[in-house]
Amino acid sequence: MERLSHSYWSFSVVLPLDGAYAVKVSKALSVLGSDHSPDRQGMHSFPKSAKYILLAIVHLMEPKEQAKVVKSEEEWRRELTTERFRILRKDGTEPAFLNKYWDNKKKGEYRCAGCGNPLFSSDAKFESGSGWPSFWQPVSESSVLTERDDRFGTRRTAVKCARCGGHLGHVFDDGPPPTGLRYCMNSGAMDFVEEKKSQ
Ligand SMILES: [Zn+2]
Repeated sequence: MERLSHSYWSFSVVLPLDGAYAVKVSKALSVLGSDHSPDRQGMHSFPKSAKYILLAIVHLMEPKEQAKVVKSEEEWRRELTTERFRILRKDGTEPAFLNKYWDNKKKGEYRCAGCGNPLFSSDAKFESGSGWPSFWQPVSESSVLTERDDRFGTRRTAVKCARCGGHLGHVFDDGPPPTGLRYCMNSGAMDFVEEKKSQ
């Protein structure tokens, strides 16, 4: 849990900041035209009124529910390759380094291999050394869901596609700034769409 301190006139408040909320505050600040960004050490001074504008913008930027894709296990089995079915519908994991996108440095978007939902941008991809494609944030707050995964005797947080519920990978809290998160994804759960170069 990170903490971001706002000093207002003669008093200050401290907002608890987890990774996802830090991203929201950061976006809201850029809407306000502020070049402040939350970080672990940062102390930020705002006029008192800015606090309410900031919180209102964060609220307006909350994700809206999106339409779900629901299919039977048999339908998924028919539509997906064996490997994709194993990962997306059976919570499978592919081997490190022996997967399609761990070292992909092209610019573009990673979409769910089950339903096409945009998941991650190459702008948030980083070299994690894990051998799996790694990102410090999803394309939007509403594109993925997380749930507890206690299999294999360890507590991890599984990441699923918010639209079709397909298993994508796990998220860990040892990622880089600004979120401190590491979304460790299976290449087989995603399709990469390269950005077209504009002339
Ligand atoms: Zn999906």
